[in-house]
Amino acid sequence: MRQWTAIQMAKLARKASRAAGKKGTDLPGQVARKIDQNILRKLAEKVDEVVFISGTNGKTTTSNLIGHTLKVNQIPIIHNNEGANMAAGITSAFIVQSKPETKIAIIEIDEGSIPRVLREMTPTKMVFTNFFRDQMDRFGEIDIMVNNIISAIENKGIALILNTDDPFVSRLKKASQHVTYYGMAKQAYDFEQSTMNESRYCPNCGKMLNYEYVHYNQLGHYSCVCGFERKQPKYEIERFEINPFLKLHINDTVFDMKIAGDFNAYNALAAYAVLKELGLNDERIRKGFETYTSDNGRMQYFEQGQKKALINLAKNPAGMNASISMGEKLPERKVYLMSLNDFAADGRDTSWIYDADFEKLSSQDIEAIIVTGSRAEELQLRLKLAEINAPIILEKDIYKAAARSMEFEGFTVAIPNYTSLTPMLDQLVRSFKEEK
Ligand SMILES: [Zn+2]
Repeated sequence: MRQWTAIQMAKLARKASRAAGKKGTDLPGQVARKIDQNILRKLAEKVDEVVFISGTNGKTTTSNLIGHTLKVNQIPIIHNNEGANMAAGITSAFIVQSKPETKIAIIEIDEGSIPRVLREMTPTKMVFTNFFRDQMDRFGEIDIMVNNIISAIENKGIALILNTDDPFVSRLKKASQHVTYYGMAKQAYDFEQSTMNESRYCPNCGKMLNYEYVHYNQLGHYSCVCGFERKQPKYEIERFEINPFLKLHINDTVFDMKIAGDFNAYNALAAYAVLKELGLNDERIRKGFETYTSDNGRMQYFEQGQKKALINLAKNPAGMNASISMGEKLPERKVYLMSLNDFAADGRDTSWIYDADFEKLSSQDIEAIIVTGSRAEELQLRLKLAEINAPIILEKDIYKAAARSMEFEGFTVAIPNYTSLTPMLDQLVRSFKEEK
C-alpha cells in the first residue's frame, strides 16, 4: 500500500511539475522517497539487470549509446536519459518507466551518489569510464572518491566493466571477483597530448607509474614496480579514424559511428563492452551504433547547406581541452563560440579555465572567437592571455552570440559550460532550421 501510494503521488507530482513547465525528472523521486524509503529497492528488484554507468567524463554518451542500441533492438529498458543521475532522479526513472515486461535498467549515476544509492539497491553490472579532475577537485580527492566507491560496491557480487587504461578506474578491481576490462591498443589513435599529468602516480603505492604508451592524460599502458599494471582487455579498440565521425575497429569488427570526438571512442568502447556482456552480438550492436546521433549538446553535429556546426559541453579543463582538440581535427576554417556561466550548477569558481589549454587555439585557422555567458569577460581575458591571432567578439547574451556565429562562413565550434548549454543548443537548432 505504501509503495502504491508513493508511486501514485510521484506520478501526480510529475504531472504537476510538467504542467508548471519543468522537466519533472527529480520531483517524482523526491516525493516517492518521502512516502516510502524503500521504494527504489522494491522497484529495482523487479528487473533482472541493472547496469550503472559512472565516471567523470563520458557517462552520458556511454549510457545513451547503450540505451539507444537496446531500444532499436526492441528491448524495453528503464533509462534515466534526462541526466537525472542522483538518487531522486534514478528513483523517478524507475517509477515513471517501470513496466512488467521491462527487465533491464540502464542507469547513469553520479560518482558522488554511488555510496548513497548502493545502500538502497545493488546493480548487477557497473561500468566506469574514467576519473578526471572535475571542477574544484584537487590532488588526492580522486583517491578519496575511489576509496568510497570501493567501500560501497565491494563484496556485493557486482560484475565490473572497467577501463583498463585508466589506473584510477582499474584500481576498482579489488572490489569484485568478476571484472571485465576494455581498453585501447598502443597507437590506436594519435591523441592530442594534454599537459595535465597529475594522475600519473600509482594508485596502489604512490610511486610514479611507468608508461609504455600514453593515449592522453593518465590513460595508457602502465605498470608499477609494486605489481599494479594495466590488464589485457577483453574488448579492445585496435585503431580508429575520425572523418569527422568515428570509425572504430573493435575486436576485428568495424563500426561507422555518427558521433564525433576522439575521446568518444572510449565511450563507444565502454558501451560495446556492456552490450556484449548483456549478450548482444555485433550485428545488433551495429544497428544501434551506426544510427546514434547525440541530441543533447554533447558532440552534436549540425549541417545545412554550406554551414556546419558542432556543439560540445565543457565544464572542466579536460572537457575544454578535448573540445579544442576536436576543433583542431576539423580541416575547415572555424568560428569558436564559447560560453562561461557561473551559476550554482556550474560551480561559482570559474578559475578552472586557467588549467585548460587555450594556447592550443593559436595554431588553428580561426575566423573569430565569440565569447558569451555571465563570465564572458573572464573568458575574453583568458583568450587574450593565450595570444590567439583572431578577433575576439564579446556578446553576453547567449542566444544572440549563437545566432551571430551563423553569420560566419567557418565551421562553428560551440563550447558551452553547464547552464549555457540549453540556450546555446536551442539557438543552434533554431538557426539550422532556418537555414533550410
Ligand atoms: Zn605501485
